[in-house]
Amino acid sequence: MIRLYNTLSRQKDELVPGDPARVTMYVCGPTVYGRSHIGNARPAVVFDVLRRLLVHEYGAGHVVYARNITDIDDKIIAKAAAEGVGIDVITRRYEDFYLADMGALGVAPPDLAPHATTSIPAMLAMIAGLIAKGHAYAADGHVLFDVAAYPDYGRLSRRPLDEMIAGARVEVAPYKRGPADFVLWKPSAADQPGWDSPWGRGRPGWHIECSAMIAEGLGETIDIHGGGLDLQFPHHENELAQSACAHGAPLARIWMHNGFLSMGTTKMSKSLGNVVGVDELLAAGWSGDVLRLALLSAHYRQPLEWTDALLDQIRARLDRWRRRIGDFAAGTRAPPPPALVAALADDLNTPAALAALADAEADPAALLGGLAFLGLPGFAADQGAPAAEADAVATLGNDTRGIDDWIAARTAARKARNFAESDRIRDELAAAGILLEDGPQGTTWRRG
Ligand code: AMP
Ligand code: ZN
Repeated sequence: MIRLYNTLSRQKDELVPGDPARVTMYVCGPTVYGRSHIGNARPAVVFDVLRRLLVHEYGAGHVVYARNITDIDDKIIAKAAAEGVGIDVITRRYEDFYLADMGALGVAPPDLAPHATTSIPAMLAMIAGLIAKGHAYAADGHVLFDVAAYPDYGRLSRRPLDEMIAGARVEVAPYKRGPADFVLWKPSAADQPGWDSPWGRGRPGWHIECSAMIAEGLGETIDIHGGGLDLQFPHHENELAQSACAHGAPLARIWMHNGFLSMGTTKMSKSLGNVVGVDELLAAGWSGDVLRLALLSAHYRQPLEWTDALLDQIRARLDRWRRRIGDFAAGTRAPPPPALVAALADDLNTPAALAALADAEADPAALLGGLAFLGLPGFAADQGAPAAEADAVATLGNDTRGIDDWIAARTAARKARNFAESDRIRDELAAAGILLEDGPQGTTWRRG
């Protein structure tokens, strides 16, 4: 049994999937116009751990994890204009960086990686449906969601309406009926990217993207919806309202929000400037293992203060564990300590999971199994997550049984447009003497 703190109910709820053969989870992904800082990596790592737990509980092939890419946004448009290139140049560049950075932290590509720009028809259909049901209105080239027509608005973030209006920093606009009404569609100037619509050439608002992509890829009601605390309002409040009004069904059974990572005294944030990039930390010599374990050292709902002292302490602990494991044969690793799995099943209690690992220090097989379960990239793969495993690849040359799994992982990465990951798998196989050939019937391999 897995229990998770549900922002909607403000308590730990038992996870009861709508269909245990197809457990669905959606996490709001990055807006791709810049490099990720380590705060952005916190939700990626936390929900990667949750995904591994779900796969453990419900079985590989019974969990569908979607994490979107927001590839149309005013900040993207501004960045493209500043460089004098198309937005696709910007979005492809920073999506690749994102996947490479997260991959270095052992974050496996999601099963589905919907892109806003390829889901416009689903958004247009949803907006039209909301208008038809009286939950949205067109005005002055815009389409707005009518907050007053949804009495439950504010249920997720539990804020009074005046505070929500202030919090949303919603601009006063003459075409709005209510100050909290938010944009579903807005007009594009001739020099801005846009799509034709019944309301004129324009582009979607941010919130409708996720609602439409969730319905399209996962279904009307999903099991888990996640993201950082800053997304609770207005983003998730608006997603919830749109989807509930469009479908007459709840968007998610459980809503999860990770707390902020801070540096100095405030939340790490690009606009405040107190950021350190994942790539910068890696270049400074911190391994993906150290960074991932540091991110997991605090409970995901608690604040996490990012300091060199924390990293030093985690590195020392990992070095000690690595010495215990020594050259312990990877093939004979034990399952993770039961106490570790139990801790994760209790609202992803990673500090308790790390304590369970410390208790297992005398047993290198269990230690190794536990570190792998947590997804540390340097400690071997588990249930099909296509992570980088130097030792696994080293043995590949003599053991061809694993090659099909690697090819499947690479195919999944390519499908998710995670080319950094797919190339990495190809290169590592090549290093082990296995050459891949892509043909119309799929990928085949031969010894080089
Ligand atoms: P963004 O690209 O800014 O939309 O952020 C991507 C994800 O990172 C969202 O889920 C944010 O909530 C999350 N996030 C951003 N900053 C932090 C932070 N300092 N600590 C934890 N999560 C964050
Ligand atoms: Zn979203």
